[in-house]
Amino acid sequence: MRIGFGKDLHRLVPERPLVIGGITIPYDKGEEGHSDGDVLIHAVADAILGALGMDDIGHIWPDTDPALSGLDSAIIAREVGKLAENRIENIDTVITLEKPKLEPFRKEIRDNLASLLGIPASRLNIKAKTAEGFGPIGRCEAIEAEAIVLLKD
Ligand code: MG
Repeated sequence: MRIGFGKDLHRLVPERPLVIGGITIPYDKGEEGHSDGDVLIHAVADAILGALGMDDIGHIWPDTDPALSGLDSAIIAREVGKLAENRIENIDTVITLEKPKLEPFRKEIRDNLASLLGIPASRLNIKAKTAEGFGPIGRCEAIEAEAIVLLKD
């Protein structure tokens, strides 16, 4: 087995969509970013790339490349899913955000991201937590995601 860990954080700003695992969640702010800012996909992609012993997503999809402006992170998810070549045993994730409540969207996020990665939804777990009002996440100024993956060697 090989293990990989990834995390990502984006600022939340007005007039941007809140995209999590490829699903747009209704909210009055969204992730600031060169791409669509999908924190969950970025964390999962870095976990998979880490388990593969590859460079992180910033090397493969640089935020300095004008051609990648507004990049749909679903493309990143599909690409890392292919790189993992059916070796994904399971992925566990934690999304930390104060608002909105993600529970109503958790199944849709899981199903969509699993499909992008080319794995059964049973191999992907999505958890959401708040920051209990503390720090930038607690003040609804940022969203964070962490992911850990186990790959068959
Ligand atoms: Mg990111």
